Amino acid sequence: MGRMPRQSPSKITTHRRCNRLTYFEQVLGLYRPSTPAQAFGTEVHRLSLDEYLVKGIMPTESVFGTRALDCAAVAISHFPPPKIPKEQVEQEIWIDLSHFSKTEDALIKGFIDLNEIWRVTDLKTTSDLKYCKTEDELREDAQSVLYSFKAISDTGRSEIGFRHVVVKTKRTHYSKEIEIKWTYNDLASAFSKIVKEDIPSIRKALQASDVSEIEASPESCEDYGGCVHRTTCWAFGLIDQGSGMIDFRQFKKKGADAPAATPKPDPTPAPPINPPMDAETKAHSEQAHEDVKKKHAAKPECLSWTKEACVLWLEKEDPAIFALKKPSKHRVAALRARIASIQDGSVTPATVADPVTTEPETKPEYRPSPEAQGVIEQGVFDLYIDCQPLEGEITYLDQLLEPLMQIVCESITEKERREIPAAYLTPEGHLIHYGMVPYNNGPARVAALLMANRKSLTGRIVALGTLPVTKACVEVLLPAARNKTKKIY
Ligand code: SF4
Repeated sequence: MGRMPRQSPSKITTHRRCNRLTYFEQVLGLYRPSTPAQAFGTEVHRLSLDEYLVKGIMPTESVFGTRALDCAAVAISHFPPPKIPKEQVEQEIWIDLSHFSKTEDALIKGFIDLNEIWRVTDLKTTSDLKYCKTEDELREDAQSVLYSFKAISDTGRSEIGFRHVVVKTKRTHYSKEIEIKWTYNDLASAFSKIVKEDIPSIRKALQASDVSEIEASPESCEDYGGCVHRTTCWAFGLIDQGSGMIDFRQFKKKGADAPAATPKPDPTPAPPINPPMDAETKAHSEQAHEDVKKKHAAKPECLSWTKEACVLWLEKEDPAIFALKKPSKHRVAALRARIASIQDGSVTPATVADPVTTEPETKPEYRPSPEAQGVIEQGVFDLYIDCQPLEGEITYLDQLLEPLMQIVCESITEKERREIPAAYLTPEGHLIHYGMVPYNNGPARVAALLMANRKSLTGRIVALGTLPVTKACVEVLLPAARNKTKKIY
């Protein structure tokens, strides 16, 4: 049994959210793309921790403008006066589990935002304070347990505090502190739970030969704007479908308006994840699951290829996809999926209908062209809004839009570029996310491009309302769709 890849509190948290995410991220390398909100949070950390706490400088400039400065000022009001030794701020920590367990040898790495010896602080930024963890949740939180355990072990104290300082990133910038006290005994038993339960479970996911061997967590599929692996989970037939339609929201966790507080997890009988099914539906679902499993019995080798290997293969077998977009602009996950589809024969390079590759040489116009004489030509595609059919091939709207978003990012004007913070631009000067086009014009431009292509759309398109661009695109698709199906709530 070799040493498993290095773990971290966030990897453990991700694993608790869904075991399959560990496989997707740590085995297949399909990490979730970072978001503008994360870049903003990193900047607030830099301003309040590096600039203020370590150097003693009150920040006055930020690439994110006054909003980041205001958030940093709010965070600073929770901190002790500077200067704090560098070793206590954003302190890199390592925990070698082989020192605590005879069977586990994983290394865990993390960064403690502020270690005051008697208390550990973690700074968080959020769009809404309703997402703050409660004290009970902090007692279950992997970061709270691991950071506090490391700090208390290093000092030999019998008690230590752990707190979240949470700053709201939208105006007005309110903040909140949630603090708990850990005794050494409580920490030791919480730490041992991670060693005995989380780490073996992660190891099991890492050793799986196929993602279908790992239990799904459909109740997490809609978290944080929707899991980016839903397409793959569906493609591998890994989510129980019920009959006819799948609606991911049926699995959504209870929100704030749930009648009672969330009960503490009971370690003995695990609650059923999927809703009960009648015998006929169950048989149907199992048959569908078996069919897809058979189809994907052998995991395509290309799913673990590097980007360079994918590009080399595609340049030979399917060079058309690089005609308008440089290889570096493609995402490795999309390249692997394309290779897998070509290899299993479900698509062939010559017949793939790709709106981008069929565009003329010139850069596509992103402004909507006027509808021809006000007549909308009927498309040959079916549109599913917030639901999807049980069987057959489908295309998610985000798959369809990916190349269009790319075009929008690359086609910003010089004037717009000057208005965009440098942190949102690539070294080549391209925008990293269409949502940052000034004046909230990004979704409209993506929809305009889609409109120019909609007459060539075929098959079944599934639009889930998890992207900012979905609303604008559904407006464009609706009039031209051959059949429309919408989930009614
Ligand atoms: S789509 Fe759902 S089941 Fe699949 S990895 Fe994401 S959260 Fe897990």
